[in-house]
This record gives sequence, structure tokens and C-alpha cells, in this order.
Amino acid sequence: MDIVQTTTASMDLIPKWIEEQKQHSLALRDEPIEQRIQKLKRMKQWVKRHRSDIEDAIYQDFRKPRYETDGSEILFVLQELNHVIKHLKEWASLTKVKVPLTLPGTSSHVQYEPKGVCLIIAPWNYPFQLMVSPWISAIAAGNCCVLKPSEMTPHTSELIFEMAASLFPRNEALVIQGDEEVAQKLLEQPFDHLFFTGSTAVGKIIMKSAAEHLTSVTLELGGKSPTIVDETADIEVAAKKIAWGKFMNAGQTCIAPDYLLVHESVHDALINSLRATLREFYQPTDAPVEQSPDYARIVNEKHFDRLREALKEAITKGASVAIGGQHQSAHQFIAPTVLTDVPEDCTLMEEEIFGPILPIKKYSTLMEAVDYINSRSKPLAQYIFSEEERVQEYITRRTSAGGVCINDVILHIAHPELPFGGVNHSGIGKSHGYYGFLEFTNQKPVMAQNWGTTMTNVFYPPYTDQVKSIMNRVLRWF
Ligand code: NAD
Repeated sequence: MDIVQTTTASMDLIPKWIEEQKQHSLALRDEPIEQRIQKLKRMKQWVKRHRSDIEDAIYQDFRKPRYETDGSEILFVLQELNHVIKHLKEWASLTKVKVPLTLPGTSSHVQYEPKGVCLIIAPWNYPFQLMVSPWISAIAAGNCCVLKPSEMTPHTSELIFEMAASLFPRNEALVIQGDEEVAQKLLEQPFDHLFFTGSTAVGKIIMKSAAEHLTSVTLELGGKSPTIVDETADIEVAAKKIAWGKFMNAGQTCIAPDYLLVHESVHDALINSLRATLREFYQPTDAPVEQSPDYARIVNEKHFDRLREALKEAITKGASVAIGGQHQSAHQFIAPTVLTDVPEDCTLMEEEIFGPILPIKKYSTLMEAVDYINSRSKPLAQYIFSEEERVQEYITRRTSAGGVCINDVILHIAHPELPFGGVNHSGIGKSHGYYGFLEFTNQKPVMAQNWGTTMTNVFYPPYTDQVKSIMNRVLRWF
């Protein structure tokens, strides 16, 4: 197998490697589905064999607790692999469609054609699963891939390189490591599909580059996911779920609750429950939070400084620290922090927080909460804690979001049969399972004319009175 470690040094070779993939992608069109399934099975074995390597790599990248890696990276990928392996034959088979009255003598089907050569660019926050999950969809659909993991998690990126190199030839899966300069170089190439996971700002750059070649895109972006807690919610349960979803991965989760909208009557009770839960989660022996082995760190100094400045700005402008607030630059540590009275004109309320800081806003009427959500960009996720079905249904219908989870957080991403993705600013296109497979597929209609002469002959020019009269009768009939 011809394996090359790709870095910025070998950027000039990129067009040649992509041409190799183009050639190979044509050969892949003849491959039986069973062969794709075998590739996915080999990926599964690799993931199982390298469980501790994956845990180690992500721990070295940002001290993510190994147990969190098991649940949110390894289990996630294995579930996706199992689901795709089980259903791929059914998804990839031709779908025959009926013959409409207007097209007698024809037969038609939808063919699920691989797009060809796809570029997948991943972020750092779930560095393994966000690279491997779209890659699974791309392989399931029969594509060749160039994979660009994040430069911010070098240990995991290196492991992904090793994974690809041990499972696939370079003309089928090529890992190119590097920063935005490398990504830009890749974006100059005429790919058949771009699958990008990352920030909304970079998503716009990706879409502009895609426009040059009219390449289709899937953009899995970020945003501010609101969480409503109404007066009927079970406050203790809500606090536990919110604290888990927000502070897992130290808040660096695209669908973490970004801010809370809490009914004024349960505002104080929720803060008390959050305080108790955070002690239970991260200080079970009363040792300081920073000693908890179950709490991750901010990925790098740049993001640590961004969060520290945003926290400082909010406090200067009048926010109160209800819980936490401590930080240590030496370890890029920020304690789980809950803020109240956060003014609207500060970074924490204007941009995606993407860190362990949780602003809480009070509301008095549901309409006020819904109006607040609708006055901002459409979020990636929307969470509702309420015992009232009427309220759950009202919020879901009156607001737009990539996905909704009721009386829980995050879990909707883990259902293999649900599409995952954003809407407008939070993303374009869907991923996971069948929806991921479709994203990397051209759903090609194929029609065959089985009769020599057909009914459509009667509509050919010249458009005589007889043709017009037949058309009039047909239109009346419909
Ligand atoms: P990012 O946008 O900074 O980087 C993502 C990838 O894009 C990296 O591989 C990076 O090298 C590359 N990149 C950066 N600048 C680029 C440029 N100018 N041109 C081309 N490529 C460029 O995002 P990040 O900081 O790695 O990740 C955090 C963001 O990702 C958050 O906004 C989060 O919400 C979002 N996210 C979304 C999902 C989702 O599924 N929707 C999942 C995880 C993270």
C-alpha cells in the first residue's frame, strides 16, 4: 500500500492525489455493495482494537475524560457503523417507481450513485467521531474521500491518519493534516461534494469556495441552542440533564445548551439545583473542581482567552456569577459557571459560547420566550423542559431549529434513525444513517422507454388544432 504522511510540505501534490482518487472513484462504481459493507466492518474492527489509542489521543489533546470519549466518540461511531452495515443493502438498492398515466410504456427507478471524490473537513471538539461519522456515510455511498482533521487536536488527527492508512489505499482515503492554509488549498480543487463541520463563519467561506466549482455542500455548523424551562418542569431532573449536556466536554459541544430561558417562578430553584448537581458531578469528595478527573479542559490558549475575556466583559457590564467563575490559564481550566442578569450587548449573548459558561435569562410569558428565540438566528438544537404537552408542541411549532429534544438534552444526536443537522446559520443538509448516505449520493432518476412509439407523439409539432384539442381534453381530465 502506498502511504504518504501529508503535511503542508506536500501541498503541491494535492491536485495529483485528487486526480488519482477521481480515477479510482470510477472503478468504485462497479464495486458490489457487499464490498462497501466489508470496508465498514473493517473500520469497526479497527475502532474496537484501538479503543485505548482513541482515548489516549483525545486525552492528550484536551484532557477529555476517557469515559466521555467512550460514550460520545467510540460508542457513537460503533452505533453508526452497526446501523449502516445493517441497512446499506436496502438503502443502496434501486428504488423502482410506478408508471404515471402520462408516461405509458416507460419504466423508471432511482439509482443511488456515488458522488465521486468528497472532501470532509472536521472540527476539534469531538475530533474522532466528527471525522469518522461522515466518512462512514461517504464509504457507504461508494465514494473516495480526502479527510482534513483539525489542526487543534494533533494526536487525534495523527491517529485518523494511521487509521486511514491501515484500512484504505491513498486513492480511496487520503488524510491531509494541516491548518486553514491547507484547507484553503484543498478547497481550490474540484471536489464532487464538501462535507464541513465547524463554525458558521468558516462555513460561509466553505460555501463561497464550493460556488466556484458548483460543488454540493453539507454544512454542519454551530449556533446558540436555547433551553426553555417552564414552571411545570421537574426542576431537579432538568438541572441534572442541563448540567450534563452543558458541562460535558467543558461546554465545547455544538449542541450544548447555550443559554437558558427560565420561567421567573422557578429561576432560583433551578440555580439551586444546578449548584447541587455540579457538586455531585465534579466534587463528590469536596475536592476543588479542577481536581475532578471527569471534567475536560479548554482546547487551547486562544479559546481559553476568548472565554475568559467574554466572561470578564459580561461581569463588567452587570452579569452576576451564580455558580463557578474560577479559571486558571496554566491548565486552560474554566470551572462550570452559571451567570444571571447577562446583558444582551455582550459577546456571551451575541456569539455561540462554546465553553462552560451558562447564562440564565428569566421570562414571564411563553410568547416572550418564543419571540426571543425567533429574534435570533435559527439554532442547531432547541431544548424544552415542560410537563405540558401543549407547551412542548407550541414551542416546537413556533420556533425553528436544526433539531428538538424535549425533557432532555443532546440525546437526539444519538438516534441513528433521526437526521442531524442545522437550518440556515446552523447548517445546510443532514447527516447520520440514511440521511448521511443520501448526502453523499446523487439520487439519479433513470427512465426507460419500452414502447417504440408513445402517447407523447401526439404532442409533437406541428401544433395542429387536433393536437390542441387532445391537450384540452387531457387537461380537463386532470
Ligand atoms: P472551525 O470552523 O474553526 O474549524 C473547523 C475546520 O475548518 C478545521 O479543520 C479548520 O482547520 C478548518 N478551517 C478553519 N478556518 C478555515 C478557513 N478559513 N478555510 C477553510 N478551512 C478552515 O471550527 P472549530 O473551532 O474546529 O469547531 C467549533 C465549531 O464547530 C463550533 O462553532 C461548533 O458549534 C461547530 N460544530 C458543529 C457541529 C455540528 O455537527 N453541527 C459539530 C461540532 C462542532
